[in-house]
Amino acid sequence: MPYQDEIRIPNDATYSPVSLLDVVAAAPLASRILLGATAPGRAIQLAALGLYAGSVARDWTARQGMRRIDFRAEFGADVDLLSEQPAHSRETEVQRLAVLLNREYTDERVPRKRLAVRVNEVLTDFLASITGQRVETSSEIRDVTLAAFLFPFAVGSCEPLSGDVAIFRDTGIFEPHVVTHEFVHRKGYLKELHAQVLAYMALRNSGYPVLVQSARAERLHRQLRVLHPEDPDAFEASLSDAGLRPELMDAFLRLRPAAGLYGSVVGEAMKKLYDARMKLTGQNGISDYDRGFTNFLYTFGLAESVGQPRTLAAL
Ligand SMILES: [Zn+2]
Repeated sequence: MPYQDEIRIPNDATYSPVSLLDVVAAAPLASRILLGATAPGRAIQLAALGLYAGSVARDWTARQGMRRIDFRAEFGADVDLLSEQPAHSRETEVQRLAVLLNREYTDERVPRKRLAVRVNEVLTDFLASITGQRVETSSEIRDVTLAAFLFPFAVGSCEPLSGDVAIFRDTGIFEPHVVTHEFVHRKGYLKELHAQVLAYMALRNSGYPVLVQSARAERLHRQLRVLHPEDPDAFEASLSDAGLRPELMDAFLRLRPAAGLYGSVVGEAMKKLYDARMKLTGQNGISDYDRGFTNFLYTFGLAESVGQPRTLAAL
């Protein structure tokens, strides 16, 4: 079957006012508490499950016509093809990113709904520049889902089957990257490394200062996490050494994990489970978010005879 130049993934579940999976999970309990009866809850649960399954099936069918990126051929890097970036190279990158972020700082904030539409366009254009095919998807996002309580260390989520995306907290300058990362999943790339690098390159090369800023901030943040794993004090010291302007400094400090017993106990337990799940699905684990991400850009930056220009990995 020849590929179409444009396909549309309907993402019907994302237009539902509440997450359908949350309704499936919560309806019987809510009905017991509110009505003292289980029957209405079960009916709602089945109806939500039907809508959910229908949406998933339609998306799956549409995705069969998708031309997928060959990461090895285009970038010379993939989940199992990464060169380790040396520490001194990471440190140099931190300094250069800090200079660029300071010099090109913008305080523009795009409201979330408008931002979602803009980054979705940027991402669709970027992916089409590689594959020659536009994959149109929904720009809907929601603020509330049960996942926010299960993964207190996360800032957003994309439910892989329906493409339902939720953003849990306001991360300021990082938000364009967070939303774009989740939208990469929605377009059918489920691996975290792929979401990280495609979001970075799409925003970095978008020409919009506020989106370029977000990509650079994400890269700097991830470099610092690799250089100072699980060490908030060293992370902070390294940030002040970098000489970031106060507005940027604030945004980075707000990324520190939520305090409190719930956040730490549930957070640590779920993080281990999440890491294990990633390893079961052909990924390297949670390290793909930072070490894998920065190693990918480093590897691509040195690659010979690949499909894409290495300037896409620029700082
Ligand atoms: Zn992700």
